[in-house]
Amino acid sequence: MSQVFILVDHTHGKVAHPVGELATFARRIGDVSALVLGGDLAVLTTQLSDLGISEIISISGINFDKYSAGASAQAIAQLVTDRSPAALLITSTARGKEIAARVAVRTNSGIITDAIDIDAALVATQSIFGGSTTVHSKVGHGTPIITLRSNSVEIESSATTPTLTEVKVVESDFDASRLGDKVVSVTEAISGGRPELTEASIIVSGGRGTNGDFAPVEALADVLGAAVGASRAATDAGWYPHSHQVGQTGKTVSPSLYVACGISGAIQHRAGMQTSKVIVAINKDPDAPIFDLADLGIVGDLFAVLPQATAEIQLKKA
Ligand SMILES: Cc1cc2nc3c(=O)[nH]c(=O)nc-3n(C[C@H](O)[C@H](O)[C@H](O)COP(=O)(O)OP(=O)(O)OC[C@H]3O[C@@H](n4cnc5c(N)ncnc54)[C@H](O)[C@@H]3O)c2cc1C
Repeated sequence: MSQVFILVDHTHGKVAHPVGELATFARRIGDVSALVLGGDLAVLTTQLSDLGISEIISISGINFDKYSAGASAQAIAQLVTDRSPAALLITSTARGKEIAARVAVRTNSGIITDAIDIDAALVATQSIFGGSTTVHSKVGHGTPIITLRSNSVEIESSATTPTLTEVKVVESDFDASRLGDKVVSVTEAISGGRPELTEASIIVSGGRGTNGDFAPVEALADVLGAAVGASRAATDAGWYPHSHQVGQTGKTVSPSLYVACGISGAIQHRAGMQTSKVIVAINKDPDAPIFDLADLGIVGDLFAVLPQATAEIQLKKA
């Protein structure tokens, strides 16, 4: 059976949730080898034990956190060259896509980004132009390098005891001019205890209709255990941080449930959220374009609707 590489995204000893999705996709294609760069291997290995992974390849010897994507890409490209896997799957984060692009250049391979599905024959599905077009494509050259959006597939768990391969590297192995920027300091984003936007299975987003008051949006998000998103109108107005912007020039999300509150549904906003499984829109204008996309629509004032929904869910949970 062919071997498929997945890149394990981890921070503070925690494997990112979408790694389970990568493993689920990879198992359709072949045996899964998980690439772990840095981190506490014992802690990370435990978290990978129910993802059907056959092999963990641990790359250590250099502090990857000290560099931007260049160092990780060089280490991965070397392994891809040595092993010629059937594919390399990476989560579609900004860093993931940068690593993928650099590995593709170094290994002279084709790359597909922001896929939402991939089949056993390595045909990837992308949803483009604000969701108006679905593209099926296949890499025709080198090792297929595919980045996949999180929340694209239900994680299928399977307990395994992966074999461990340790690869030791030293800084002098690396092409210093291609290591990328050196990280000089890191400031953790304040998440307020809410899930990360691109990983969240539920997102409640607010737009211009909030008029700058995100309290009811946050209250609903908290009762649902959701992340908070925002339209560009809201972030440009300074009502919510740009890091929470969903859309063409913001983050691309694909949660199980997306609740759009006071958002009209401009094409640039849709581009970032239209692959959500269920979309609920709350808007006081019955002709708002978001209703064309929504599975469920509520025509009403968000300041009346959201507190009622929050109270009702709280009651059900009690
Ligand atoms: C190059 C480019 C890139 C862009 N990138 C992005 C992007 O990444 N993300 C993004 O979001 N936008 C992006 N935009 C902007 C986009 O075109 C829209 O302007 C923006 O999405 C509008 O945000 P909105 O829906 O919050 O505001 P509006 O379009 O003004 O809609 C506000 C909605 O709130 C409703 N409303 C008002 N009050 C209430 C209330 N009390 N209760 C319920 N509903 C209410 C209104 O009926 C209206 O439908 C981009 C634009 C360009 C040109």
